[in-house]
Amino acid sequence: MCAAVLYRRLPGEGLDKVIAAFREAAARDPFGTVLIVPTSRLADDIAHCLITGGTPIVGDAVTTLAGFAQRVFEDRAGAGSLITPSGSRIIIADILAARVRDLPLLVRGERPGAGVVDELVTLFEVLITRRVDYPAALGELQGEKSAEIALVLDLYLRFLDEHALVDESTLLARAAQWLAGGDRDRIGPVFIYGLYEPVPLERDLILAIRERAPEFHYAIPWADNPSVFIDDGTWIRPDVIDDGGAPPGLLPVRGTVCIAERKDRIDEVRAVAQEIRDLIAGGAPPGDIAVAFPDLLAAMAYVEEVFPDFGIPYTSSRGPALIGSPSVQALLAVLAVPVHGYRREDVVALLNSPYINNGRFPAGSVVDILSREARIVGGMDSWDKKFAILAGRLEAEIAMPDTPEGVRRRHERTLAMIAGVRRGLEDLFADLATLGGAKTITGHLAAYRSLLDRWGCPAMPDAGDPDLLLREGHDRAAFFRALDALEATARILPEREVTAAGFLSLLSILITGSNSGSRRARHAVQVVGIREMAHLSIPHVFIAGLIEGAMPRLTTRLPFSTDLETRRLKTRSRSDILREERYHFIAALLAARDCLYLSFPATDGESPTIRSNFIDMVRGAINPGTWGAESFSASRLSAAAEAGALIAEDRFDEAGAVLPPPAVREAARRLNIENYHRRDACDSPYDGMLCDDPPAVAALTRRFGDGAIYSATALETYADCPFRFYTGDVLSLEPLASPDPDLTAREQGSLVHRIVHRFYADWRQDECGPITDENQAEALRRILAIGREEAEQVSLRSPAWRVAKEFLLGSSLAGPGLLEGFIKSEVRLAASPFSPRVFEFSFGSPTGEGVPIRLHEGSEETVLLRGRIDRIDVAPDGAFMVIDYKTGSSRSNLADITAGKALQLPLYIRAVETLTGLPGAAGAYYTLRRGEIRIRPVFWDADRKDHFAGYPVTRKSAVEDVRALVDASLARVGEYLHGIRGGRFPTRQDTSSCPVYCGFTTICRYDELREFSSVGEGSDGAH
Ligand code: SF4
Repeated sequence: MCAAVLYRRLPGEGLDKVIAAFREAAARDPFGTVLIVPTSRLADDIAHCLITGGTPIVGDAVTTLAGFAQRVFEDRAGAGSLITPSGSRIIIADILAARVRDLPLLVRGERPGAGVVDELVTLFEVLITRRVDYPAALGELQGEKSAEIALVLDLYLRFLDEHALVDESTLLARAAQWLAGGDRDRIGPVFIYGLYEPVPLERDLILAIRERAPEFHYAIPWADNPSVFIDDGTWIRPDVIDDGGAPPGLLPVRGTVCIAERKDRIDEVRAVAQEIRDLIAGGAPPGDIAVAFPDLLAAMAYVEEVFPDFGIPYTSSRGPALIGSPSVQALLAVLAVPVHGYRREDVVALLNSPYINNGRFPAGSVVDILSREARIVGGMDSWDKKFAILAGRLEAEIAMPDTPEGVRRRHERTLAMIAGVRRGLEDLFADLATLGGAKTITGHLAAYRSLLDRWGCPAMPDAGDPDLLLREGHDRAAFFRALDALEATARILPEREVTAAGFLSLLSILITGSNSGSRRARHAVQVVGIREMAHLSIPHVFIAGLIEGAMPRLTTRLPFSTDLETRRLKTRSRSDILREERYHFIAALLAARDCLYLSFPATDGESPTIRSNFIDMVRGAINPGTWGAESFSASRLSAAAEAGALIAEDRFDEAGAVLPPPAVREAARRLNIENYHRRDACDSPYDGMLCDDPPAVAALTRRFGDGAIYSATALETYADCPFRFYTGDVLSLEPLASPDPDLTAREQGSLVHRIVHRFYADWRQDECGPITDENQAEALRRILAIGREEAEQVSLRSPAWRVAKEFLLGSSLAGPGLLEGFIKSEVRLAASPFSPRVFEFSFGSPTGEGVPIRLHEGSEETVLLRGRIDRIDVAPDGAFMVIDYKTGSSRSNLADITAGKALQLPLYIRAVETLTGLPGAAGAYYTLRRGEIRIRPVFWDADRKDHFAGYPVTRKSAVEDVRALVDASLARVGEYLHGIRGGRFPTRQDTSSCPVYCGFTTICRYDELREFSSVGEGSDGAH
């Protein structure tokens, strides 16, 4: 055993001398000399300096303790294999999956989650490296949970033993054993620098090295301050102790120190970025700048948003989480689609992904629209079946003689698209089916790789943002490395089959714990975790995010352990952790050579934060300055905001100095639209007012002029919201169909209409007369038979539809159904002079003839009308009542009719009057919904009071002159035609909310407050 020298130095101090001594020793013994440091970043920096300084070093001569252990392991041929952290995660996940029944507390459901695996990995590392006798160390605190953890730990360690494997934790123990056993041929001079309070297994290895090394130098971070340093290094049994003179007091910080409080986290990172840009502008190389965060993972989200905006080249010690990569998510979605049962949204997302679908399969947008139409929710088989039903429906509509030619052509185009989609999905599902079923992990991997290979996935873009392309390349490489790791580990796992869901879960666990990885760029700003800063020497150091909870982070509790259990395991106490946190903070401070910038955010989102008491410690020890700009001139986003503010004040020339002039012109144009044109009343083309555009007006007049045929519904739409008419009837836009698996309100209405229509058609054909007490049983039998037949035609099988069917037909649970209620209502109406005469009465057609209705008495101006009237009841004197069935809750009233908003009943009355010469006496709604079955005249002829004795009429709905009421509605129609032909399509002029059924809310810029402020300026926006 050689003489061991112990050096005690401030963090970072004396490193140069240790490196110089190492260089000398390496010159004598290049293959045996080793320098061990605490972090791979420091090892990398030292090796880089030595090589660039002309000192050749052999392989991993400068390394970490784990790196040294690995070197010992690799030198020992036949010792077994080293597994990566990913390998450990896979083995633990496999043990959990195989022993689900024995682990009810650890595994909820069929498969373990990524969180459980992560926590077990962390716990096992602590238990192994600290040599904790688990669960015995818990004493009487042992229970079912600790028994399950101990079982997994035991199975894991046994698996490693049986397969001659070592992981990163057991590697230290193995290396110490082999060194102590003299298994390694020889070992050269060893220099160890900067390890802070090594854990028991690390100490074992260091002592084993000390025993074997011909020369042993051990330098520890040290100062005369027991609140930070208690490991005095005497446990290595030094022969010589070198204190470097009197122990210094703490905080001999070099250069200037400044502290800043920033508004929030994003403002803090932006202030850092601005300062960095100023430093670079002042001549500092980016590689001379480091930014450290206590919580690097959380901070990276802000760094990735802010640094590119400021144009800062940076490199991070932690690549982005692989699971956040869009290309990796797409690759996992390939597996998820069959596992989750071919859900509509999954299939559409897969087909929409540019990483997966590069033209091989139908476009996701087309599949999205058609699958909504076909009401597909999911299920491999249901896709084709439902597309076939949709195709059948369209074919039937095409075959119907009264289907307009335009609709027929549209349906034919849709049918061709459906056929293409069905073929494409057949191929897609056949490919995806190869991923299903139970297989070994290697079997799943082979099928998955083969599929990705055949599809050429992930398809990578040929051109684009170089940074993005580079990152996507890293993500792709990291993903396939993870597959390789899984394949390598799977070869040693017990050969058993797992389901496709189990395989996806295993792969997800692996990916969740992986980073994208990136190569360190020395000429870029280094973004690191604060614990990586010890012993570095960097000219400009920023330490940001210094708030309580992050620095110091005093969580002592181990995964799956209460505070009491953690104390009992004697891992680390709160004071141990506080001491360690102080050390890392001080070591990071001492890493700054010229300037040190500390900062903390005052708030985190909504909640205020508490600055770290380490900040106060610095303030108490020295007199720091402040730093940080209030404005961010280097930010492209800030430049855009500044230019925007200047444009808003009409300072265009000044804005042109901040942004390129074309961008300023475009911004000004858009601002004008919002701030000038879209203010107050609607009076510009941006609000649908096309009246000042002669070509548009001419086109509208041609299309909606004298020969155009209107439906009452279209005119009502214009009356309610001209902009809705513009989007739907002029531009022919259609809202996306809802993929709702249940019957829509409209379909429910059609179903009831069909049943009632068929019933009365049969009833009248058989000349059964009015429905009375005598024949109501027969009427009920007939209508229920028709109802059952029609319900059978509905292809839905959802629980909601089953309930709706019971409410329609009645059942012992639901009671009498809607159809029975209808028959009873008809019996009550049998005493009325009105009797049902015509059902589903159609007049006019969109492309054929419309019924010409005169708009004004004595004028030749007409509107061509088409429509279908649900029912017309006629009294013996010829007076008739137009009836509209309503299955929903929205109904208009007389006020809506007189206001010109509800046009259907008056227009239908005039159409029947025109066609038959009979006098209209009333317009009524027949409400047919659960809990409310009744006919209610919305208006009725006061001169025919006796006709309405059996109806729930009120004096308010009595009209002295029905003809005058209808004439008034037609006068309104004249105004609407004028508006349509003249290009006036403003948004709704009503302060009430827009109707819930409007499908254009996502593209409409309607603003209730704006309408409120412009009320009284004219119905169509005219002042
Ligand atoms: S959201 Fe309102 S204003 Fe816009 S189109 Fe629909 S009904 Fe009209």
